[in-house]
Amino acid sequence: MSLTDQELISHLQSIVGAEQVITAPADLEPYLIDWRKRYRGQAIAALRPANTQEVSEIVKLCAANLIAIVPQGGNTGLCGGATPNATGRQVVISLQRMNKVRAVDTSNQTITVEAGVVLQTLQEEAAKADRYFPLSLGAEGSCMIGGNLSTNAGGTSVLRYGNTRELCLGLEVVLPNGDILNSLRGLRKDNTGYDLRDLFIGAEGSLGIITAAVMKLFPIPVAQWTALVATPSAERAVELLNRFQAGASAQLTGFEMMSDESLALLKHYYPALASPLAGENPYEVLVEISDYESSEHAMQLMENILEGALESGCASDAIVASNIAQARKFWDMREHIPLAQADDGPNIKHDVSLPISAIPAFIKTCNALLKTKYPTIRVINYGHLGDGNLHYNVAGPTSAETESFFTTYSKEIQAMVYAEVERLNGSISAEHGVGQQKVDYLQGHRGNAAFHLMQSIKKAIDPNNLMNPGKVINL
Ligand SMILES: Cc1cc2nc3c(=O)[nH]c(=O)nc-3n(C[C@H](O)[C@H](O)[C@H](O)COP(=O)(O)OP(=O)(O)OC[C@H]3O[C@@H](n4cnc5c(N)ncnc54)[C@H](O)[C@@H]3O)c2cc1C
Repeated sequence: MSLTDQELISHLQSIVGAEQVITAPADLEPYLIDWRKRYRGQAIAALRPANTQEVSEIVKLCAANLIAIVPQGGNTGLCGGATPNATGRQVVISLQRMNKVRAVDTSNQTITVEAGVVLQTLQEEAAKADRYFPLSLGAEGSCMIGGNLSTNAGGTSVLRYGNTRELCLGLEVVLPNGDILNSLRGLRKDNTGYDLRDLFIGAEGSLGIITAAVMKLFPIPVAQWTALVATPSAERAVELLNRFQAGASAQLTGFEMMSDESLALLKHYYPALASPLAGENPYEVLVEISDYESSEHAMQLMENILEGALESGCASDAIVASNIAQARKFWDMREHIPLAQADDGPNIKHDVSLPISAIPAFIKTCNALLKTKYPTIRVINYGHLGDGNLHYNVAGPTSAETESFFTTYSKEIQAMVYAEVERLNGSISAEHGVGQQKVDYLQGHRGNAAFHLMQSIKKAIDPNNLMNPGKVINL
């Protein structure tokens, strides 16, 4: 016989303590809605376990009673993955309290952390140990490493250090039956059968709950130089990237592109972050070089490459940050574009990746298609050009019209953009994931063979579909 909600709650309270089972509507509210406020759900409760054992016991109880679970980290995800559905029959497991650093091994260059460690805290803990943890993104003050792993987050240093997947050496995961899978050995080589770790990275909580991870650390660069560079077109921006790749190789640690419309939006909502470059440039690029030799060496490299770029015309203007504060301001410009968009109202988001060589064609064709059909739209186009990742977001003509534009045109605009992505061999999600936003597009995008294999994996690991159902993949 299944438990009543009250009986379930009292069992949950005996596992995590009464105050960690959140049911009061006002307290539950933040767990039911996503960062963009596009998705809202209901839940029996939000649970805040203190350790892996408690997570395991909760999952066993839920499995026995066929209660579905939604894992939640910092709740900064952009595709509704961490929001429960509307049935009110799910529980949210928040990893908030599991925020301990378990070990730092400077010789192995690793840090072992619980899933609820906030990304910025992880960066700070690495710095305390005189090491560098390179994952960096706009939400780093609130997103958590478990969420970063579950979304295989990208961010601004992927072109040098890789996605979160590349930064991870091992995981601890609570499986849908409550068993605990442990691969926290911190090994760089381990060829003993299937790589189970990689299944859970990017799974968005659909296969289990990540409770801890071993992450790679790196030496702290001696110097970092940042420049803001104007470029006349997306084609020339790619040329600029190639010049930096050829000239700086692995020392190139950031290459972010921002279109004129993104910069105009930024200037409107955050005037203090308006671009210091003269005029209105079709694109501006943020470039970062890191160096392990000396500051002079890095500066010389930056100046040499920029000189060549200005001569060739792929750069039309450039400012190299003269101090840390100015470099920070350049990064703030880039990181505040999504915040300016949130202030502006809803927009139709596309987080796409393409072969870098195809990006100019993608922008040109998509802009032309969309602006012919909807002449007054704004395309807020920016992203991690060095990784072939564009945030190609479409907004109504004015802030006041964004909501109605979003509601009316989301589906048809998304279909047009995704058709272009497919034509150019891209992906419909570069880094944000599938969540509930793109779940209906998955089969079409990945093709039947990949989709059916993913379904088989999901059914094998989570036969009762209790782990974040309705996200990533429909069964
Ligand atoms: C301003 C802003 C800028 C951003 N910039 C970037 C960017 O540059 N690059 C990028 O990749 N993303 C970016 N994001 C998106 C978001 O920050 C990332 O997806 C981040 O990795 C999510 O982490 P989180 O802890 O907030 O996860 P949540 O939002 O809580 O969850 C995300 C998904 O992971 C699952 N999940 C969370 N924790 C666990 C766990 N412990 N075990 C299993 N499943 C779990 C959830 O169920 C959900 O499906 C940005 C978001 C904002 C708001």
